[in-house]
Amino acid sequence: MAEQFDVVVIGAGPAGYHAAIRAAQLGLKTACIDAALGKDGKPALGGTCLRVGCIPSKALLDSSRQYWNMGHIFGDHGISFKDANIDVEAMVGRKDKIVKQFTGGIGMLFKANKVAAYYGFGELQPENVVKVTQHDGSVVQLKGTNVIIAAGSDSIELPFAKFDGETIVDNVGGLDFTEVPKRLAVIGAGVIGLELGSVWKRLGAEVTILEAMPEFLAAADAEVSKVALKEFRKQGLDIQLGAKVSKAEVTGKGKKKEVALTYTDSEGEKSLVVDKLLVAVGRRAATKGLLAEGTGVKINERGQIEVDAHCHTGVNGVWAVGDCVRGPMLAHKGFEEGIAVAELIAGLPGHVNFDTIPWVIYTEPELAWVGKTEAQLKAEGIPYKAGSFPFAANGRAVAMIEPTGFVKVLAHAETDRILGMHLVGANVSELVHEGVLTMEFSGSADDLARICHAHPSLSEVVHDAAMAVSKRAIHKAN
Ligand SMILES: Cc1cc2nc3c(=O)[nH]c(=O)nc-3n(C[C@H](O)[C@H](O)[C@H](O)COP(=O)(O)OP(=O)(O)OC[C@H]3O[C@@H](n4cnc5c(N)ncnc54)[C@H](O)[C@@H]3O)c2cc1C
Repeated sequence: MAEQFDVVVIGAGPAGYHAAIRAAQLGLKTACIDAALGKDGKPALGGTCLRVGCIPSKALLDSSRQYWNMGHIFGDHGISFKDANIDVEAMVGRKDKIVKQFTGGIGMLFKANKVAAYYGFGELQPENVVKVTQHDGSVVQLKGTNVIIAAGSDSIELPFAKFDGETIVDNVGGLDFTEVPKRLAVIGAGVIGLELGSVWKRLGAEVTILEAMPEFLAAADAEVSKVALKEFRKQGLDIQLGAKVSKAEVTGKGKKKEVALTYTDSEGEKSLVVDKLLVAVGRRAATKGLLAEGTGVKINERGQIEVDAHCHTGVNGVWAVGDCVRGPMLAHKGFEEGIAVAELIAGLPGHVNFDTIPWVIYTEPELAWVGKTEAQLKAEGIPYKAGSFPFAANGRAVAMIEPTGFVKVLAHAETDRILGMHLVGANVSELVHEGVLTMEFSGSADDLARICHAHPSLSEVVHDAAMAVSKRAIHKAN
């Protein structure tokens, strides 16, 4: 006999645990199933994000940034020191502690909200029954009036570069090297490749990033990508564009293992030998073994679970959220979908505004954006005006020795409504939310320009950029 719930959630990543907690808050009897194990072999909730994604990558980005600053920034502050050392084990250990704290935290939140946690693999069967194969091999059946699938995503593996967890790795291995690789190649100059490439570069690795596309970070505004590429190359990241890798051969044994790569760019075939290879070519929805015959849930041509604008699969009571459905693969997009679906189930008006989802890349400088790029506005024939302001003209940024980058505000030429904000520079992961908030309230560049910002603060760059839209920035010639 299946135990009956109002809501059964498959997956306790950002999308799933938000859905489960919100459903329980709304008085719905809720269960959440997750199959993942932590590094210690024990169940670990929180999904890719908490275990091997957002949080651990930011922990290592922060550690490596402190180290990099010692060698590159401290001197300008008049600080000198002797013998800086890196203890990679301690650095990774700190990251692991943070992961443990946060994955454990989800378990506590489940308890506090009375979400029943099941540790094992869930398979959706017809009639909204979920068969859970628990880690001890026992099987339980849960029936949900509603089932929310939040199965997330897995790294895409290249057929010629199979992950071995040691020499050829994905994000999981790339967050857990036991020492700084002397030579690291990264396939893919996307968010994950750039962030993890930056970590190991800052710690002393020679890092080559091979990107098949001829354009760098095509999804970002062209001016932002241009500044970022220049800065990353200045930091010593060897970013090769239009470089298509066709072969990755592991040779040698033990500590002498190497990977011989063959790739082709505009000059022809080339080779590169490295100690470690990180493959970061994207992620795909994790649907393997998830759906039994006859559920009626459809998988689209991109391997994602097919849903409508409200994350409904079209099968009565079955929903899907997060990385396993269309839309950006971002934790906060999953958060919002999880909450929206729980609210829709409870009869509330749940909704996610895809137009105001912020994007962030946590490199140095950071990149962030929300809304449309200039290229998109041009392609869609939307008349717009732009205002930008550089961090180099901001007192706080200069005092922090963070003068790189700018903020650009794009507003409709006639209504002045903000259509996009594009940022590259210090702390833009936080500043972008001024754009998100203003856009969410359908605000104008003038609204933002008339909001008092603290001085001196990095946020003044946003303020000045908003003022520059109508050519009234005070701290630069308009
Ligand atoms: C290195 C890295 C860095 C990242 N950094 C960021 C960042 O800074 N900001 C950001 O917004 N995003 C970031 N992301 C992306 C982010 O991690 C994902 O978008 C997010 O985790 C997706 O959430 P989700 O809940 O949809 O899926 P997931 O987090 O993948 O969680 C799905 C969970 O479901 C479980 N599961 C799957 N199938 C089953 C099943 N059949 N039965 C039981 N359990 C199942 C899985 O074990 C997993 O725990 C990063 C990703 C990586 C890899």
